[in-house]
Amino acid sequence: MGQQLYFDNYNPTGDVIVVAICIVMLILVSVSYVTKTKNFSIFITMIAYLVFAAMADYAHHEWFTYISDGNYSPVYAIRIVYHALLFSLLLLYVFYIIEMQHLEISKRIPVMFISTAVYAAVIIVDIVSTLNGSSFRLNKNGTAVSGLNVFLVGYIAFIVIIVFLMVVFRDRIYKKAMFGFYGTMLVSFLILFYQGRYGQSSYTVASFLFPVIAMMYLVHSTPYDVELGTINVMAIKDMVRYNYEKKRELLYMSLYMPDFDSEGKLIPEALQKTIRIFAAEYFKKSVLFQISNGHVILFAPKKSNPDYENRLNKILNAFHDEYEKFKFDYKVVIGETIDEISRKNEYLSFIENIYRHMELNEVHIVDKDDVTIFNKYAYIFEQLEDIYKKHDLRDERVLAYCQPVFNISNQRYDTAEALMRLKLPEIGMVFPDQFIPIAEEHGFIHVLTEIILQKTCDEIKRLIEDGYGVKRISINVSVLELRNAGFTKDIEKIIESSRIPDSKIAIEITESRSDSDFIAMKTMIEELKDKGIKFYLDDFGTGYSNMERIMELPFDIIKFDRSLVIACDTDEKSEKMVGGLANMFSELNYKILYEGVENELDEKRCINMSASYLQGYKYSKPIPIIELNRFFSKTASN
Ligand code: C2E
Ligand code: CA
Ligand code: CA
Repeated sequence: MGQQLYFDNYNPTGDVIVVAICIVMLILVSVSYVTKTKNFSIFITMIAYLVFAAMADYAHHEWFTYISDGNYSPVYAIRIVYHALLFSLLLLYVFYIIEMQHLEISKRIPVMFISTAVYAAVIIVDIVSTLNGSSFRLNKNGTAVSGLNVFLVGYIAFIVIIVFLMVVFRDRIYKKAMFGFYGTMLVSFLILFYQGRYGQSSYTVASFLFPVIAMMYLVHSTPYDVELGTINVMAIKDMVRYNYEKKRELLYMSLYMPDFDSEGKLIPEALQKTIRIFAAEYFKKSVLFQISNGHVILFAPKKSNPDYENRLNKILNAFHDEYEKFKFDYKVVIGETIDEISRKNEYLSFIENIYRHMELNEVHIVDKDDVTIFNKYAYIFEQLEDIYKKHDLRDERVLAYCQPVFNISNQRYDTAEALMRLKLPEIGMVFPDQFIPIAEEHGFIHVLTEIILQKTCDEIKRLIEDGYGVKRISINVSVLELRNAGFTKDIEKIIESSRIPDSKIAIEITESRSDSDFIAMKTMIEELKDKGIKFYLDDFGTGYSNMERIMELPFDIIKFDRSLVIACDTDEKSEKMVGGLANMFSELNYKILYEGVENELDEKRCINMSASYLQGYKYSKPIPIIELNRFFSKTASN
């Protein structure tokens, strides 16, 4: 019974190569940034088992050559250990796949149970059959009788489990990674197949190596950007989570240089080098992440850098020296990990939120207030996202307030400006400066405009029905919204379905520097103006005012910003200039509206400067739109 083969048809090359490759993998893992998912420890254990298996393989063949008394017990014993290590590798491979597929507990438990049972069974059978001589045996002359091939049976059982998992739950793994695992398994089979064909036994452990290489390459590796020494932003979350679980505190230092983001320039080579050296020299075990062209963040374990405060000062001094050389604007944020943020794993948006409140060329040390502000920001964001998703035009969280506008020609209030507020369950009233920028940045602004327009139309309808004279109410529209081709249609649809005349709605919009926005704005205004909607140029006098462009757009009313009203209060020259501008506009048939009229003096001055409309605290603070009837009168100006 059994086939005769020479037991020492073995040479150690295969096992030596396995140990060498394992060492190479360990070196690479220790010098690179590795993704430490739960599977990472399985991966490292598998490398260790590969080394032990190769050693056991080598040991039991080697031992054999020293045995002269025919007692092969030590060889049998090490051989069983060797098999056990190989089966452990297969078992770990099963666990690795289960974890990678994120199997639910209910599916995970039977698979783990079956594979552990197979594992225990083959090891027991291996021991028993070796003891009673029914499997592998060695003759005195060094030939082996294979008998019952327990290893082959166990191996096939595990392959069945693995293939079952990879086929049944195939859509749980990204397809290309899946093919990576299939491919490397195929290479393993081919090696075993050829080894069997040539009666060899040197490459068994080597055939177990390939799936582990696939794990390293496909799952755990995160390559460096060689120029900057940075790694990809995606790895931040993984690193934060891993350190949070291990209760290890981290330090971080974030450098943002807006020039490189807005203009898409790359950081010059000399500066790249400086950043790379900074990261390596000042902090031990630091990792540098590239967030965007102009944004890098350095993370380092606090424990490895006990004198970090000293180092921070040094790095900042060095940074200032570099700044003198390069003169690029910057914002620096420095902090330590905080449980609250680590738990949510949101350092990126946390840091970005700090930048939003920060001046250029400042260094900011993170404190408790930043967390409070961020939590509020995160909550507002979440609510805005929900409002956006629900797309309910009468969403109760969006409030329409408004400010009545005084019409000088008839000495009445017959127009108003709608102003938005949010009323959120946990924090109550939120003002525009706190949510408009967030809504604009994340594309939620248009839905908010639609809601305000809907509520404004509802109120106009009610006022008209109650017999009030309403000339029109203006809503604010963000320039960003005009980039969406459906803008005019959305506006028309809401006005139409509300059954009020189009002329009861006006749109306020600010100037934009961008050429493409200007073209979009022109098209939009022309389209809606045909329907009878009026247009206001908002915030005239703040920053940039391109007269040529303003003239090219058919605005009806120019809203002089409050800063111009204030300027008139401070010196005569400004008053002459503002008055001159207003005069010029009114000669060109624009109407002038002054914003921020707070007292009688303001009012008088504005009236003397070609005002048609006045708006400000002198007349009313913004009020809920439903209270507008307190200002409007019942005589028809409809
Ligand atoms: P804005 O369009 O220039 O609105 C006028 C702002 O000036 C309002 O602030 C108003 O409360 C305030 N204001 C009115 N009278 C006076 C005054 O006499 N003195 C002073 N100091 N301030 C006065 P609010 O409501 O906080 O809105 C701020 C900005 O938020 C608005 O500036 C507008 O740019 C934006 N915003 C408000 N509602 C909306 C909206 O529905 N959509 C969009 N896209 N933006 C909106
Ligand atoms: Ca406005
Ligand atoms: Ca304004």
